[in-house]
Amino acid sequence: MLKDVFMALSKNQLLTSAAKKYGLKLGAQTVVAGTNVEDTIKSIRELNALGISATVDNLGEFVFERSEALKAKESILEVIEAIQANGVDAHISLKPTQLGLDIDYDFCYENLYEIVAAASKYDMHINLDMEDYGHLQPSFDLIDTLSKEFSNVGTVIQAYFYRAQDDIEKYKDMRLRIVKGAYKESVEHAYQTKQEIDANYIKLIEYHLLNGKFTSIATHDHNVINHVKKFVEDNQISNDKFEFQMLYGFRKDMQVDLAKEGYNFCTYVPFGDDWYGYFMRRLAERPQNLNLVVKQVFNK
Ligand code: FAD
Repeated sequence: MLKDVFMALSKNQLLTSAAKKYGLKLGAQTVVAGTNVEDTIKSIRELNALGISATVDNLGEFVFERSEALKAKESILEVIEAIQANGVDAHISLKPTQLGLDIDYDFCYENLYEIVAAASKYDMHINLDMEDYGHLQPSFDLIDTLSKEFSNVGTVIQAYFYRAQDDIEKYKDMRLRIVKGAYKESVEHAYQTKQEIDANYIKLIEYHLLNGKFTSIATHDHNVINHVKKFVEDNQISNDKFEFQMLYGFRKDMQVDLAKEGYNFCTYVPFGDDWYGYFMRRLAERPQNLNLVVKQVFNK
């Protein structure tokens, strides 16, 4: 019930615009690294000092104006240059709708092409985050075309989709992030229960660890993490074949502990003024995240 409320709020255009105008509020600063590149580089440096790399998301999604998509492209290009100039250990995550997928496929492709080409000069990885089901196939189409020319692109497999096993087989030669899935999807396309999603999640992770290129296991679920630790040990999969990922601000102690244990660890670092939808989805996933908000509001 609360999940549905936050999910509906995440798509509210009026609140999204208001949030952009009034800066980081509602406790979002605990899970968003900052609103500008300078603060974000500082946050990445702090993570790097703990042995953690970063994937940087210049927040933005569901863009319907060309000018806004072009602005997003310029910001991402700026981040790529800043990562390179500052010598920090980081790469980029981005969302196709942020670059105009809902406006025009070719326009989005051109924006994306420029970004992937700029990053490839520095051998920097670009991850196409996966959004809701309506954008899934067009996003894979973008990946298909880009990967013909560039090797620095990868994407995400969402375990709640019935088609995920087919997708992971098709993209096994690509660096993949595997997640449970963050959007509200219908029974027509996606598993609905936690048991089914968790079981498929484990199956996909194991498949890619055994058959695939590099695997990013993106979860805050300690049961999954413990399972993976045992699985890689039992199957003699070396640490350079995979990494764990978590979102900035979540389970910070566990992030540091995993890095200290010698696992590759990468934190997803969102930044920018378009934080509202991202933040609401985090509340939808886990209403206990409201605790973060309460703590922030009361400054504890
Ligand atoms: P959940 O199923 O939410 O939690 C499982 C259990 O873990 C909980 O019951 C609890 O015991 C424990 N737990 C979880 N969170 C916490 C916490 N904060 N503190 C203490 N215990 C906790 N989704 C997409 O659809 N597309 C993407 O491109 C995408 N990219 C992502 C990138 C990263 C780095 C991460 C971490 C997630 C991404 N997601 C993405 C979101 C993902 O799909 C899930 O919605 C989200 O991670 C919640 O699922 P979970 O696996 O973390 O665990």
